[in-house]
Amino acid sequence: MTDLPATHPPATNPHPTGPHVTDQFVTDQFVIVGGGLAGATAARTLREEGFAGPILLVGEEPHPPYERPPLSKAYLTSGSDRESLFVQSAEWYSEHEVTLLTGVRVTAIDRSAHVVVTGDGMRLRYAKLLLATGSTPRSLPVPGADLDGVLSLRTIADAERLAPRLAADADVVVIGGGWIGLEVAAAARQRGARVTVVETTTLPLQRVLGREAAQIFADLHRAHGVHLMTGRSVRELRGHGRVESVVLTDGTSLRADLVVVGIGVWPAVDLAVEAGLTVRDGVVTDASLRTSDPDIFAAGDIAEFDHPRLGRTLRVEHWANARDSGAVAARAMLGQPAVHDAMPYFYTDQYDLGMEYRGYVEPGGYDRVVFRGPKGLVDGKTPQVMVFWTRQACVLAAMNVNCWDDGPVLERLVDAGHNGVGVDLDRLADPTVPLDSLLDPLPHR
Ligand SMILES: Cc1cc2nc3c(=O)[nH]c(=O)nc-3n(C[C@H](O)[C@H](O)[C@H](O)COP(=O)(O)OP(=O)(O)OC[C@H]3O[C@@H](n4cnc5c(N)ncnc54)[C@H](O)[C@@H]3O)c2cc1C
Repeated sequence: MTDLPATHPPATNPHPTGPHVTDQFVTDQFVIVGGGLAGATAARTLREEGFAGPILLVGEEPHPPYERPPLSKAYLTSGSDRESLFVQSAEWYSEHEVTLLTGVRVTAIDRSAHVVVTGDGMRLRYAKLLLATGSTPRSLPVPGADLDGVLSLRTIADAERLAPRLAADADVVVIGGGWIGLEVAAAARQRGARVTVVETTTLPLQRVLGREAAQIFADLHRAHGVHLMTGRSVRELRGHGRVESVVLTDGTSLRADLVVVGIGVWPAVDLAVEAGLTVRDGVVTDASLRTSDPDIFAAGDIAEFDHPRLGRTLRVEHWANARDSGAVAARAMLGQPAVHDAMPYFYTDQYDLGMEYRGYVEPGGYDRVVFRGPKGLVDGKTPQVMVFWTRQACVLAAMNVNCWDDGPVLERLVDAGHNGVGVDLDRLADPTVPLDSLLDPLPHR
């Protein structure tokens, strides 16, 4: 094993950007492990905040950090170019003297030496270390899951394997009716494939949205010709080398040219576990994203952080959390009093439906779901509608479908709700009542 004091990109590195880092700087080198959105945002924030020391960003994938959301949307339907996915252009890293090591896996952290070890034998010193290793898809624990034609979707490579197989006459079976599964189902229908979604609960997305709002997505997919098989799971996949059919627990057999497994992800916490950091559901941090080692931080999908406004710990597998937590971790690494207190936020796009969701509510942690607008499709199209999850008249979470102008007021409603401020739910449900008037002092109550 070579013991490198500096961070020369190896000759094989496809993106040999960044300066030659000499010994004198190495003691203040900041290392980021994981080239996703959280890692890239952290690197950018460190420079924006004036950090002049060396920054080394190590990522296992062969690309500069990129955004994953388009992979299950436009990248599958219209094949956007790779560069449009990059968080920052490939040149940004050299222009900002951030050494980017792509195609390099970190295999261990030697905490006492303040060193990370890579798969190809480099030892890279850090003063502060950020872990932003993201998630990996869960594999399907049934016979036949290793057949050709059984794919999952996390990376550019996955999307580029998947896209050409979404042909007009293909039979596509999507296993798992979560966000990724439904977005792939929508993309496959848009490409003309015949699509079946298999989901163990009664409705896709029921675990995250509850029955009332999950119905919106079930109706949408049925209206676009997706065959939803709910309340069932998969017993085995059959085929001769290539997948040919999916056998369900009730004995149903579905023809399949392609199977997409979307049954959730595992946070990539192995490095943290092996380094002896505190790990529960994710890598445990305080509100500043500092782990149980004061020189090591965690951000993005892997961080299980203390959320000061919600008064609980949280781990979030969404885009906005990766962006925001990457920035907060960078500031905290610089010793600034940063806390990660943004309300959870996520979005999806499927067919003619665009949606944002903000807030937090535990499954069953609400007593009323309020619709502001139609509950179903109107003339076969997704209408503008908002849905609110409330407890004792406090709005804990809000979803806006096909309406985009009310983000700030929705944020205020959710904030107020989490501070115990209630609203009149009949007026909340009435689209003629301006949303911002709901937070006025409440003479009518
Ligand atoms: C197809 C898809 C669509 C999505 N759509 C949406 C959406 O519409 N809305 C939304 O809110 N969210 C969406 N998400 C979720 C969002 O993209 C993730 O929450 C976000 O990417 C997490 O960012 P991250 O930086 O924590 O991790 P990641 O993006 O997973 O990046 C982590 C990187 O670290 C690398 N890595 C891991 N271990 C090591 C190691 N030991 N050494 C070196 N490198 C390592 C990985 O290879 C990976 O490149 C989607 C995700 C996917 C996969």
